Amino acid sequence: MKKDQSTIDNQQPKISIVIPVFNEEKNLEELLDRCLKTCLGMKRDFEIILVDDGSSDDSRNMIQRVASQNPGRVVGILLNRNYGQHSAIMAGFAETRGDIVVTLDADLQNPPEEIERLVNKAEEGFDVVGSVRMNRRDTFFRRAASIMINKIVQMSTGVKMHDYGCMLRAYHRRIVDAMLQCHERSTFIPVLANNFAGHTAEIDVHHAKRPAGDSKYGLWKLINLQFDLLTSMTTFPLRLLNVLGVLISALGVGFGIFLFVMRLIYGPDWAAAGVFTLFAILFIFIGAQFLGMGLLGEYIGRIYSDVRARPRYFVERVVGKSYLKSVE
Ligand code: UDP
Ligand code: MG
Repeated sequence: MKKDQSTIDNQQPKISIVIPVFNEEKNLEELLDRCLKTCLGMKRDFEIILVDDGSSDDSRNMIQRVASQNPGRVVGILLNRNYGQHSAIMAGFAETRGDIVVTLDADLQNPPEEIERLVNKAEEGFDVVGSVRMNRRDTFFRRAASIMINKIVQMSTGVKMHDYGCMLRAYHRRIVDAMLQCHERSTFIPVLANNFAGHTAEIDVHHAKRPAGDSKYGLWKLINLQFDLLTSMTTFPLRLLNVLGVLISALGVGFGIFLFVMRLIYGPDWAAAGVFTLFAILFIFIGAQFLGMGLLGEYIGRIYSDVRARPRYFVERVVGKSYLKSVE
């Protein structure tokens, strides 16, 4: 151990690794072995932060044990109940001290050995380094859902990343600080990070089958996550009401004109004595109602983004301000 310590280069940026843990007792030991081995091999300052997200199995005790066995290297954060993967990661972020922060899952689907490549890529100056799972080992249902989500996220954030579901990611310190200033309750971290990221990169990583335990995302949790994702990203669905309103109204007006023309051509007996005309009028009013809801939605959307109070911007650097000194 001593030897490893002496060769650590303190000039190099420190690495923090954040791992959310929820009932992963069967995977923890191997996870830690492999993480420690990778980090020690990198010969630099590091900390592994394990966040217990209210586990009911032995994970909690195991985390406490390894943290006391590896002081300064492994930190355990024990949440009092289950708050969800993304909240757990946020709790971990709050404790990080590293210049580059890496997140990964505790279930060994993300090989810890990839950390080194992620860190190397991040050091090239990227704000966020994502990863794309080659030969993904998940069920068809999970993969199909992911493809759909990735497309929507790409469209709404404008950041072309291919695999938002993969949590094996590296973030620059400034991005983590930015995320910590976002106080909204439901978040989806990869999307939140990309709100503040200027330069992003992606690398291919391996993906393994879950060696033990089941996925913690059942159908209901997955649906919840999609809503978190959607609302953390955009208020576009509210605006959709406006679009729908205009469309329905236009349809009503078009139908009315059509009826009028047909009436002129075929005489008053056509159009079932005005019943269709009523439909046309009804469409126009339904459209107007949607439009009204859409307008309310526009205000609600603005209230929502003000309540979240995300930082407006982050200054990376200010240059050419030395004149202040000469004035003094
Ligand atoms: N996780 C968590 N809290 C939860 C659900 C999951 O901390 O409420 C952790 C879990 O222990 C794992 C990671 O989040 O480390 C990813 O979970 P899982 O492997 O079940 O998700 P999947 O791979 O199926 O997307
Ligand atoms: Mg998993």
